[in-house]
Amino acid sequence: MELSDELRQLYQEVILDHHRAPRNYGTLEPHTHQAEGYNPLCGDQIELFLRVNDAGIIEDARFTGQGCAISRASASLMTEALKGKSIEEAHTIFERFHHAVTSDPTAPIDADRLGKLVVLLGVREFPTRIKCATLPWHTLEQALAGGGTTTTE
Ligand code: ZN
Repeated sequence: MELSDELRQLYQEVILDHHRAPRNYGTLEPHTHQAEGYNPLCGDQIELFLRVNDAGIIEDARFTGQGCAISRASASLMTEALKGKSIEEAHTIFERFHHAVTSDPTAPIDADRLGKLVVLLGVREFPTRIKCATLPWHTLEQALAGGGTTTTE
């Protein structure tokens, strides 16, 4: 299913809104997990902070960094999606999003399972932007794996 012009425009507006006013922007102290991510192709960089409680629930997630509208909107939407989720659920959301965003542009979109993240799927039609959208998520996996720096190359 290709996106209709109407949906494409709606998605674009949501992305620009998250770019202009990113949710959960800033550092997080104290935090339990931290990682940095770079996308040299576009120049996007992100630092991600998580606070995970003893029960393994992500209580808070924040990010800082510089990047294009897609990378910032993706980080903003991701931190919203992660709050209150278990680490296991976070991995599942990552897998689901990554699979969807790297799928063929004509593949069906499961909007129910993706929730608000669906607005980022417009990048499927622009392969060079896919790494902008997935950068925050690879940084998440890096943070959950113990921290450090990841690049999309
Ligand atoms: Zn970018």
